[in-house]
Amino acid sequence: LELDRLSVDLSISRWPLRTTLNILSDITLTLARDETVGLVGESGSGKTTLGRALLGLQHISAGTVRFDGTPLKTAADFDRIRPRTALMFQDAVASLSPRMTVGEAVTEPFRIHNRPMPDWRARAAELLEEVGLPADMASRYPHELSGGQARRAGVARALALKPDLVIADEPTAGLDVSVQAEILNLMADLKDRYGLSYMVITHNLALVRHVADRIAVMYLGRLVETGPTAEVFSNPAHPYTGSLIAAEPKPDPRKRRTDLAIKGEIPSLIRRPSGCEFHGRCPLATARCRTEAPALRDIAPGRKARCHFAETYQKQGA
Ligand code: SF4
Repeated sequence: LELDRLSVDLSISRWPLRTTLNILSDITLTLARDETVGLVGESGSGKTTLGRALLGLQHISAGTVRFDGTPLKTAADFDRIRPRTALMFQDAVASLSPRMTVGEAVTEPFRIHNRPMPDWRARAAELLEEVGLPADMASRYPHELSGGQARRAGVARALALKPDLVIADEPTAGLDVSVQAEILNLMADLKDRYGLSYMVITHNLALVRHVADRIAVMYLGRLVETGPTAEVFSNPAHPYTGSLIAAEPKPDPRKRRTDLAIKGEIPSLIRRPSGCEFHGRCPLATARCRTEAPALRDIAPGRKARCHFAETYQKQGA
């Protein structure tokens, strides 16, 4: 999957507001076969909108999405590749129709895409067993499942057509820690078995550290840092990434870097800050940052950052 300078605008015409908001801007990112990219950022950073845009569920204002080298320009282009992509929804229970049994829900992709399915009950049983659920769960309704079971059923549904690309939106949200680990192990196992590529959308850095080969950090609809996960965690190049890492819970709270703590709230898209949009919250901001917008630039092989002082920040060993 290749995203080249992708932008998404949204028109708002609700009194007293009549304006166009730039929700995503200039997103350039690739996802290789068999790779997992973790897309992180606070609520309102545009992560979910990006996930929807690259599946054709959100109108793209500018830029291109390429899948297997083919540009996707029209709704028909996205429809054509849809069976090869899947979205794992954040709210697993709500994503399963309350009127369908679990068996009907996990086999629904076959019906939607007119795929032959001689015996749907047998297919449902296979899919459920593949994700570690008993075959007889096919006759239950979503409200009868626990959070972990519903999440597994969501995985079974997403993987029914053996897609190449899975967008997983907060795949472990709302689950107990032990169930989170089970779901992550299941996702890793299915990735190895089918050579899947995952884009994992989350604000949970521990999750990204555990599953992602590369990380992409978003702030106010723009990418501010991308790179191999281990390198970014050990030596972040953007102060926002450094602040997110510093905010992670630590086994020893005395080791927490309070000097890097992120200040204030994410600004409104209606009034984007001038210059570097992070300057109001950045511990390193200078006068230049308030007027001059930094570009996302190469700072090392395979690494990019959108900060005038990325190299200095790295040298300081944040
Ligand atoms: Fe902070 Fe300036 Fe870098 Fe923006 S450009 S992240 S304000 S140091």
